This record gives sequence, C-alpha cells and structure tokens, in this order.
Amino acid sequence: MANSHDIVIIGGGSAGYAAARTASQRGADVAIVDRGPLGGLCILRGCMPTKAILRTAEIASLMRRAKEFGLSPVEVTADLEKIVERKDRLVREFADYRIEQLRDPRFTLYHGDASFLSPDRLQVGSRELDAKAFVIATGSTPNEVLIPGLSETGYLTSDALLDLRDRPASMVVLGGGPVALEFGQFFARIGTAVTIIQRSGHLLSHLDANVGIALKDAFLEEGIGVFTGTSLQRVVGSELSKRVYFHHQGREVHADGALILQALGRRPLIDGLRLDRAGVSVIDGRVSVDETMRTSQPHIFAAGDVTNLYDIVHIAVQQGELAGFNALQSAGPLRSFDSRLVTEVIFTEPQIATVGLSEMACRAGGIPYLAASYPFADHGKAMCRGDRHGFVKLVASPAGGKLLGAQIVGPEAGELIHELIAVMYYHGTVADLLRMPHYHPTLAEIITYPAESLAEKIGLQ
Ligand SMILES: Cc1cc2nc3c(=O)[nH]c(=O)nc-3n(C[C@H](O)[C@H](O)[C@H](O)COP(=O)(O)OP(=O)(O)OC[C@H]3O[C@@H](n4cnc5c(N)ncnc54)[C@H](O)[C@@H]3O)c2cc1C
Repeated sequence: MANSHDIVIIGGGSAGYAAARTASQRGADVAIVDRGPLGGLCILRGCMPTKAILRTAEIASLMRRAKEFGLSPVEVTADLEKIVERKDRLVREFADYRIEQLRDPRFTLYHGDASFLSPDRLQVGSRELDAKAFVIATGSTPNEVLIPGLSETGYLTSDALLDLRDRPASMVVLGGGPVALEFGQFFARIGTAVTIIQRSGHLLSHLDANVGIALKDAFLEEGIGVFTGTSLQRVVGSELSKRVYFHHQGREVHADGALILQALGRRPLIDGLRLDRAGVSVIDGRVSVDETMRTSQPHIFAAGDVTNLYDIVHIAVQQGELAGFNALQSAGPLRSFDSRLVTEVIFTEPQIATVGLSEMACRAGGIPYLAASYPFADHGKAMCRGDRHGFVKLVASPAGGKLLGAQIVGPEAGELIHELIAVMYYHGTVADLLRMPHYHPTLAEIITYPAESLAEKIGLQ
C-alpha cells in the first residue's frame, strides 16, 4: 500500500521548503522527503557558514591595517579551531530552526533517499508514496573533474574545507568563481599562502571583465597569487605537499600547496532519483524546466540548484514558491519566473554585487544600452573608510534611461545593490536615482554620479 499525498516535495532545502510552505498555504496535503542531514546547503555548507568565517577574515584584515588609521600595529594570530567552533554554533542555531520548520505538523516528513518507481509513485526506503504532483528540489553536489593526477594526489571541496581545523601553510585554489574566491581570500587573510588558478581570462567569467579585473587587483595587493587565462595540465604530490602544473602565457608553470581546493563548480544532484522512470527529461545533467518550473512531465516541477539555472539561494526560494504554486494549479494560468531582477552577491572584499543586465549580456542579446561607472577611489565616504577598490556601474536604456542593470565592486556592495534592485523593481530610470535624496556622506551617494553621467548623455536633465 502506498501513502498518498496531494504533493510530494523531494528535498527539504531552501527550494523544497519554500515549495512545501506555498503548497500548504493553498490547503494541500504536503509531504517532504529528505535523506538528511536536514538543513539544506545554504545553512549547512553554503551561504551561512561561509559568511560566518568571512567575518573573521574581514576583522583580521582591518586589524592588520590598524596603523593606517592611527592605531598601534596589531599582531593577528588566527585560530582556525575557534573560527570553526563559532561557525558551527551559528550553523547549529540556523539548522535547528529550519528542522523545526520541516517538522511542522502541516507537513509529513519522510527520511530517506527518494527514487521514482513511475511518474506517480516514489520509493523512500521501504515505503511507497503516491502523489498528484511532485517537486524535485534535490540541490547540487561538487563537480568531479578529470585533471590527470588530481584525484590520486587528493583535494578538498568547499564541503570538506569548512571543517578543517588546522590552518594549512599554503593552498592552491582551482577555479575563479564565487566559492573559489570567498574561500581563497578567507584562507589568505588567516595566514595561508594562497594561489588561485582560473581558466578564463578574468575572475568571475560570467560577469563583465572589469569586475574580475578590479577584484584581481585587490587580491594581488593582499598578496594572493592569481593566475587567469590558464589551462590545467596535471597534479602531482603527496598527502603533505601538492604541485599543480598549468599553462600560462605560453609557458608551463606550477603552483605548490599543502592543500588543493577544487572549486570548479557544482552539478545538479539527481543520482539515484530514476528520473527516467518518471519521464522527466535531463539535459546536460540538469532537470530541464520551463519558466513555470515545469519539467517535461506535466505534473512534476523542479526548483533550485537541481535546475542548474542560477545556484543562488533567494532564487531557489522564488523557484520553490513558483513550483509549489503551479504544481497545484488545476485551472487558471501558471506563474512564471521573472529573470529581470536576477541578483548576485559575492562576499569577497571588495564585495561584488550585480542586478539585471551586464554590458556583456546586453551585447550578447543585441540590447541597446549605455553604461557609466564611477570609482570608489574618488568617492569621499569610501576614502574616509579607506576603501579605494572598485566602482559602481549602471547600465541603462538609451531611450528614456530605464535602469537595465548594475554592477558594484566595492565596500558594502551587497547592501548598496538593494537601492538599485528597488528602482528596477518599480521600472525606474537613472533620473529617478537623481531625484531620490541621498544622505551625505554615505557610500550610497556614489550611485548618483554614474546616474548623472547617463542622464546627461540621454538628455534627461
Ligand atoms: C560554499 C557555498 C557558498 C554559497 N554561498 C551563497 C551565498 O552567499 N548566497 C547565495 O545566494 N547562495 C550561496 N550558495 C548557493 C546556495 O547555497 C544554493 O543555491 C542553495 O542552497 C540551493 O538550495 P536547494 O534547495 O536547491 O538545494 P539544497 O539546499 O542542497 O537542498 C537539497 C535537499 O535535497 C536532499 N536530497 C538530495 N537528494 C535527495 C534524494 N535522492 N532523496 C531525498 N532527499 C534528497 C538533500 O538532503 C538536501 O536537504 C553557496 C553555495 C556554496 C556551495
């Protein structure tokens, strides 16, 4: 006998919980299946633990700069054991709260690995579950990459690195995306000699080149080794010492480290789900969905990292809400994901924050645009704070000045971007940014300078 529910959500992470909450608010009988540990990537091994340890790195960096601010020089000694203990305490607190939410009597929670038996039936351990609709929200796992000698020599992924309690003397980081850069800077700031090796011509290859270039300059200034435009060749070494050979500027060179962080991306976690039995199409290893989060099987939806569209938590939540709503929509239109306001923040220093269209995306899509930037090095409040790296760039429509996107590299970029998200949410223009009051002296004031350049170019003043 199978247990029957209106909807079964596979995965109780950010996307799955959002889907379950939304479906339950619509009066559905909701079951969640999770194999555990409960809490989801963001809380257990993603956003929250990394931001907890990065706070230590920020403080260490400021302490080292004490003299610049007229304070006596400060000796900084990092105790990774204590840093990890603090992080673990916070993660426990966040995870306990999420587990309480998942155990809410509104839902039936099943522990175990889910595997489809047919489009309407799921196996979870010795149980079978039937449902009218399903949401797949099983998240992602680190990519396995084929570099000669890498797996024999040994490496860590971000999952394992978060539990390291002895600070390594040196580390080679493979990759130049958000995870590589946040971890690379954290370890460098607690005293590890870090070398980052990135294949593309600049860090953060999915963003405009000047973003990655500004970050690279800041990293080099901090003493972090950064190689871009490389091709990884092979890895040799032992438990204690590893060497990565790569091509750079036409020569073979190498970098040494006590540890290798393999941060070459994550892939959707669909192992064992038997999506073939459910009739759900998998394209390039990801569950393929349309803009309503529907898979190739009309009553099965998917949300979050398993779709491999963004790998960003608030988007996983948005997608989960859509999937939870649409899966129960028997009549009436389905809701669609709106990618206009896609936002990303990378918590390095300087921080990186983006919303909407970049110049690169406008060019690729043939979208007419104008862009203007202003550097933090020339902005009074940033100068008072001693934060001279980076810039604010606005991208606007030449016809009318509607804000199409923004990129910020600099202090508190992750907070500053929210003003631009709000203006874009209301379909505002660069002229609106000029009319809105900005307190002086604040970091936010910097936004008015590129807005002014664009308004002049467009003839809005
Ligand atoms: C180091 C790191 C830092 C990050 N920092 C940020 C950040 O600062 N900001 C940000 O927006 N994003 C960040 N992310 C990305 C963010 O964490 C993810 O996009 C988000 O957590 C994905 O949520 P999800 O619900 O799709 O998947 P998950 O949270 O991974 O949930 C999937 C759930 O499915 C369960 N599951 C998997 N397979 C099965 C199965 N077969 N049967 C039953 N259950 C199963 C798992 O146990 C898990 O609970 C970071 C990621 C990493 C790795």
